Amino acid sequence: NMSDENVMVTGAEVYARALKIQGVEYVFGIVGVPIMEVAMAIQQVGLKFIGMRNEQSAAYAAGAIGYLTGRPGACLVVSGPGLIHALGGMANAMENCWPMIVLGGSSDEDQQAMGAFQEYPQVEACRLYSKFAARPTSITIIPEIIEKAVRTSIYGRPGACYVDIPGNFVNASVKLGDCRFRSECPPPPRSLADPTSISSAANLMLAAKRPLIIIGKGAAYARAEDEVRRFVEDHNLPFLPTPMGKGVIPDDHELCVSAARSRALLNCDVIVLLGARLNWQLHFGRQPRFNKDVKVIQVDICAEELHNNVQSTVALLGNIPNVIQQLIEHSKKTHRGVPWRLSKDSDWWKFLQEKIDSNAVSTKALAEDKSVPLNYYAVFDVLTKHLPKDCIIISEGANTMDISRTMILNYLPRHRLDAGTFGTMGVGLGFAVAASLYSLDIAKKTGMPPQKVVCIQGDSAFGFSGMELETVCRYNLPLVFVVVNNNGIYSGGNKDFWEAIKMSGDIAVQNSAPPTFLTPESKYEKLIEAFGGEGHSCVTADQLDESFKRCMSRSSEQASLINVMIDTTSARKEQEFTWLTRSKM
Ligand code: ADP
Ligand code: MG
Repeated sequence: NMSDENVMVTGAEVYARALKIQGVEYVFGIVGVPIMEVAMAIQQVGLKFIGMRNEQSAAYAAGAIGYLTGRPGACLVVSGPGLIHALGGMANAMENCWPMIVLGGSSDEDQQAMGAFQEYPQVEACRLYSKFAARPTSITIIPEIIEKAVRTSIYGRPGACYVDIPGNFVNASVKLGDCRFRSECPPPPRSLADPTSISSAANLMLAAKRPLIIIGKGAAYARAEDEVRRFVEDHNLPFLPTPMGKGVIPDDHELCVSAARSRALLNCDVIVLLGARLNWQLHFGRQPRFNKDVKVIQVDICAEELHNNVQSTVALLGNIPNVIQQLIEHSKKTHRGVPWRLSKDSDWWKFLQEKIDSNAVSTKALAEDKSVPLNYYAVFDVLTKHLPKDCIIISEGANTMDISRTMILNYLPRHRLDAGTFGTMGVGLGFAVAASLYSLDIAKKTGMPPQKVVCIQGDSAFGFSGMELETVCRYNLPLVFVVVNNNGIYSGGNKDFWEAIKMSGDIAVQNSAPPTFLTPESKYEKLIEAFGGEGHSCVTADQLDESFKRCMSRSSEQASLINVMIDTTSARKEQEFTWLTRSKM
């Protein structure tokens, strides 16, 4: 009985109950000393514990749940090395502004600084990777710390939080009535922008000749899709989604100017920045990718983000849906309910449209070239034919991510997960596990069939966490993986090259293989077969078409992986601006 004051409970149970009260639903992790009993208590209170194979993937999964649901996922790890492995996922969540909680087992209180098993300064280590990190000083205070961690993770700019689990707390008992349980922390209060700034923003937009709306993953996280769409459509404004801002408004919307991205960025005179940072992904908002006189209307929930890299003309501090609602209301009042519209016959729209049309032609040629070995465009052209509109797409790798982002459209918000702000490679399998569980749960709640989750990765990206295929198969997650295999990082060498090297029998020659090269024609599909999943190996477009169709149609029965060999020299089509891609190489 959860409410009997005199019942004795263990520390493990207090952690589990507190997480449950705070609305945490999913806990990813790997058990061991001292957190085994914590995982069992988590299962007993009815939360989902998902046992993974590396803490890094578990932490990526927890972050993805935070993004998908708006409540933090948790990651439960053992002391020392377990916690260190999770730091990658915390950093990724912090950079992406996603909520998550890490719970780390640690050494006993009375062995502090004695060189205990896996002892490490965990709270200090997490400080740089979190908004809040604490070691409870008693079992009874645990619920307060958990509430604070959950609240901090979702209030203000979302991020990661850390709570320590002293090993001696796990099996020690206290009276339930002595534990300082807090009720579930409410969702973050919705903040509005300063009304004076709202009218400045409206005036600036009205005066703009070449306005552009940029939709970031902050807008996706904020669930601002209805407001953003209404705002964009009311004024007939061109919009550009960032990689994970894709789908807030469907990519095939007539106002989407992704196909004229460079032209739109370079020539716009006023940007409305909705939950996106002017960081490397947006070329710092500066020349040569932007016009030096571009004016910015910036909407963000984080005051410290305002004016970064470019001084915004109008800074609107607040929650995106509310701030847009303010702009909509303002427009209603000042224009007698009929919003001004940017005409499709305006010079700006004609200029953008021309580029959109010509770009479509150039990609089409690459996509239609089905010669073997396949190029990236041809691969994605085949995949798109079988992707349902509500599919959650996970994508990582260098070219695999960049090219699939333009070729594979998103129609719904929060349906694309990728390497993100931090450019983290190896997130794919962790994200896939999280997205699949999420989609299955939504299906259970709505009675609808689950949305498909497809994970498209380069061979190098897949390698970082490939062992999570075991996790996928153990939980019977209906995932479809596509490994776009070019024998290496960026790209590798062909088989002949390797044969020649091996034949030489000379270690020095063998060691001279380029560091980007991985084993050629690796049979990644065999890995999923080892765990009971279905593997496919494809070389031609027809094989890929048949395999992918089959995997998509029977993905409810079994997880599958398609290994598709592509041309090791296939690359992105010529870009107008190459300095960024070159610097990444
Ligand atoms: P992208 O990678 O899509 O460009 P970023 O991660 O760079 O997006 O930026 C997201 C921004 O959204 C962050 O600056 C974050 O503070 C902001 N943000 C997150 N949630 C909200 C919200 N509810 N309202 C307003 N801004 C938000
Ligand atoms: Mg590769």
